[in-house]
Amino acid sequence: MGEEKRREPRVEVKLAIRVACGTLDEFAERYALNLSRGGLFVRARDPSPAGTPVSIDIQLATGQQAIRGRGVVAWTSGPSAPGEPLRRPGMGIRFTDLAPDSAKLVDLVVATQPRAGQGSEPPGPPEEGAPAFEETVLEPPAGAAPAGESPAQPGPRGTLRPSTRAVGIDLGTTNSCVAVAEGGKARVLASRQGWSTIPSVVAYDAHGRLLVGHPARAQMVVNPRDTVYGSKRLVGRPFQSPTVQACRDRFHYDIVEGAEGEAAVRFAGRAFSLAQISAFVLAEVRQMASQALGEEVTRAVVTVPAYYNDHQRQAVREAGRLAGLTVERIVNEPTAAALAYGFGRGLSEKVLVYDLGGGTFDASVVDVQGEIYEVLSTGGDTFLGGVDFDNQLVDHVVYRFMEEQGFAPPADRGAWQRIRDAAEEAKVALSAREKALIHVPYLCRDAQGEDVELRVEVTREELEQLTARLVDRTVEVCTQTLAAKGIGPGDLDQVLLVGGQSRMPLVWKRMRELTGKEPSRAVHPDEAVALGAALLADTAARIDSVVLIDVLAMGIGVGLPGGRMAQVLPRNTRLPARKSYELATVRDGQTELELAVFQGDSAQASECEYLGTVKLGDLPARPRGQVRVAVEFTMGQEGILSVSARDLASGKVEQARLATRDTPEVLRAKLQMPQAPSPARGAAAPPPQGAPQRRGFFGRLFGKRP
Ligand code: AMP
Repeated sequence: MGEEKRREPRVEVKLAIRVACGTLDEFAERYALNLSRGGLFVRARDPSPAGTPVSIDIQLATGQQAIRGRGVVAWTSGPSAPGEPLRRPGMGIRFTDLAPDSAKLVDLVVATQPRAGQGSEPPGPPEEGAPAFEETVLEPPAGAAPAGESPAQPGPRGTLRPSTRAVGIDLGTTNSCVAVAEGGKARVLASRQGWSTIPSVVAYDAHGRLLVGHPARAQMVVNPRDTVYGSKRLVGRPFQSPTVQACRDRFHYDIVEGAEGEAAVRFAGRAFSLAQISAFVLAEVRQMASQALGEEVTRAVVTVPAYYNDHQRQAVREAGRLAGLTVERIVNEPTAAALAYGFGRGLSEKVLVYDLGGGTFDASVVDVQGEIYEVLSTGGDTFLGGVDFDNQLVDHVVYRFMEEQGFAPPADRGAWQRIRDAAEEAKVALSAREKALIHVPYLCRDAQGEDVELRVEVTREELEQLTARLVDRTVEVCTQTLAAKGIGPGDLDQVLLVGGQSRMPLVWKRMRELTGKEPSRAVHPDEAVALGAALLADTAARIDSVVLIDVLAMGIGVGLPGGRMAQVLPRNTRLPARKSYELATVRDGQTELELAVFQGDSAQASECEYLGTVKLGDLPARPRGQVRVAVEFTMGQEGILSVSARDLASGKVEQARLATRDTPEVLRAKLQMPQAPSPARGAAAPPPQGAPQRRGFFGRLFGKRP
């Protein structure tokens, strides 16, 4: 704030703060010290003088409102003098007017948190290092508009009028994108800085501020432990799942076990659910869309990978809710891409959607008949994506560096992240050029204390040699996906390449060879999925809506004694689907039945992802085998599973609960599983080069991996 403004303390300043919490409970716990009935304390680099009126707008990281109202600066505290213990400046703000919900929240915090200030004055500054509200925006309103007047242009959230439109969101592993459609035409909504996608990265900086998107991605090199990326691979998975265990070796941040046994992440000293992490990204995307439209976006169609299981889809719904979005529909990414390609064109084509993104690969055959999009077959690999291409290149340049220098790069995460970034940049450049330089200046010092850089030139040919095996694997998956439904490559009318890594010329070449066709240039590899979702969101509001027919990407089955899995709904089953499975009591007087439900294509339950246990109680006590129960599995069009059970004697129907609380030990004992599995989806393909050989959860459980 300038001196000019200091002399006019009556001009209201706007205090807009986003706190690093996903829920109000967390908010209450974390910021109790900064709140009292009378006001709050805010750290500010340049506090406004006492008497300055303030409009207060504190939101959770998800965009949810926490405290909104008005106040006045009661006092300011300056920075510590030299020699004193560190104290950053701040100000106590006395509430003058709070929105009813905010007043309730303050009451609740004060009543339930013993550390909260009880008085009618703002609390004093908390100790350095303790969480504090940090000023993020502190400015007089544009044109010194009278207090209380809403800005006409898009401003902070909450000041826009609610939108009647639903947007389409591609919540990607590497990047996320949002689009809107009107009258059958879809367009991507860019950020104010002109980005059409934002990195799906969430971080806390050194000041405890939450960063999402480009700012989070930008500080990854210096702060890898507090930067969460690639979390899409972890969403909705049990912590002990082999996939999560494999990710623990690859990712720089901490992956921990959540309260329900699910994977969660820990950074900046706190644990977050994966739904919260996704919610941070969704909230950012939502804000980007709201700014671009000048309306508050509250509804969305969100895309997910075709192989996402029930829990993962539920987690995305939850993330939407936390981000203040009603998720109107969840749609599979390849279907959305096909929609972006075919919508309104009256096509009759069989289309192969090849989606190679940052972390995963998906192949789907979609039959497009006018506005009917039917997925015929789908396949993929959750451990194959651009990052594996980067790994190959990193190994190569590090080898060259070691040859030249005679020693390895330092073992610190920051240095390796810089090498990785430079390698990725070169990889992307090699899609357009024949040669690229990988250059990391000041990488480390040698034994004499001299600065050492990494400088390696790479040709496209070298990159292709290094990564040919990875591209081969995608081609194999395509061949298997086609073969699963007896479709020959020659039966395809079109090939759509989506996902950033599909831009690699070798991918084009290999797909040309496989199908004998030039892949389509009609869809944008980064935007097609969001555009398709937006079209769906738009058509859902109209009568001439499209029809999407999807298939189950991975089978659903139940665990049998001995560790086998009985498939109930096999892979590629058309959705929606319903199937009954009958079972009987195995002990005299047994009044409870339990069924472990798995998703995956293996005959061994241990090689599939555990979804949960169906528990049925209150069965009549009869001799074994006399109580028979029909369990019905219903998989909705969005791939969300519900299970109900009917006691065949009494006809009593119960909605069964899919509890994920069984620990691996309990599950293992129940199913008497004999051996260790590999990742559910990765089972179809060998582990990627350089993939960790760490044992997964069953591996640790059973001592060795097959
Ligand atoms: P996505 O998840 O679809 O955003 O894809 C991200 C991945 O695509 C990252 O691994 C990028 O390095 C990679 N990528 C982006 N652009 C290119 C390009 N032009 N050539 C090769 N790979 C690319």
